[in-house]
Amino acid sequence: MTEPSHPQPAWLVDSHVHLDDASFDDDRGQVLERAAGAGVRLMVVPGVDAASWPRIEALCRRHDGLYPAYGLHPLFLARHRPEHLGLLRERLVGDDVVALGEIGLDFYVDTLDRGQQQFYFEEQLALATEFGLPVIVHARRAVEEVVLALRRFPGLRGVVHSFAGSGQQAERLYDMGFMLGMGGPVTYPRAKRLRHLVATMPIDNLLLETDAPDQPNAGHQGARNEPARMLETLQAIAELRGEPPESIAAATTANAFRLFGMAIANRSL
Ligand SMILES: [Zn+2]
Repeated sequence: MTEPSHPQPAWLVDSHVHLDDASFDDDRGQVLERAAGAGVRLMVVPGVDAASWPRIEALCRRHDGLYPAYGLHPLFLARHRPEHLGLLRERLVGDDVVALGEIGLDFYVDTLDRGQQQFYFEEQLALATEFGLPVIVHARRAVEEVVLALRRFPGLRGVVHSFAGSGQQAERLYDMGFMLGMGGPVTYPRAKRLRHLVATMPIDNLLLETDAPDQPNAGHQGARNEPARMLETLQAIAELRGEPPESIAAATTANAFRLFGMAIANRSL
């Protein structure tokens, strides 16, 4: 691998990357090398269904700097069974798990039963509360409902990933101690509301993410996303805020350490 010619940024944390996805099967090692070359040294890999958990556990054991989260994602509702909640509970006692996720509500896809989504979401919020773990939340066309559900679990911390709500909804999430995950969508000039939010939001509530292989940056539409591309998102956010990328990098990495706990901070690299 060639050394990058520019100074290395501070460590970056990709707070949301589906690195277990089959689209990485052929070149996962190279993807990780490119990530390291870009300074993306730590990554949180969230689960989407019960079948994904053993795969993610094995992946995170194999590579330094990868941390698992386990959860039942609303888009995969048809695969979930109530007994998976019991299996999830057993997984949460593991000392390497950094969060419960990816969980949430998706009201964009109207074939997904909303009552069932609410059931799995709230059961998992209760588990997170019981285990004192942060949550990684998916909220598509359902930010209002997500905020209402989170309110029923005071003290719970977490991140709403790929946030696409209003400034007012963001404020309510900050008030509950929640962070917002920002990735590829902020690189699109048309995303005016989102870019205004990113430019003005409190830095202490900001996490960087890719959601790779999904949500590619502007200029890479249709291509597989990957963690190394988070540098472009960092650059876009730095420009929007008028701050040096290094300070955004340092702040967001500190935020990730704070949210996901000492398991990451103590890990030697
Ligand atoms: Zn995701």
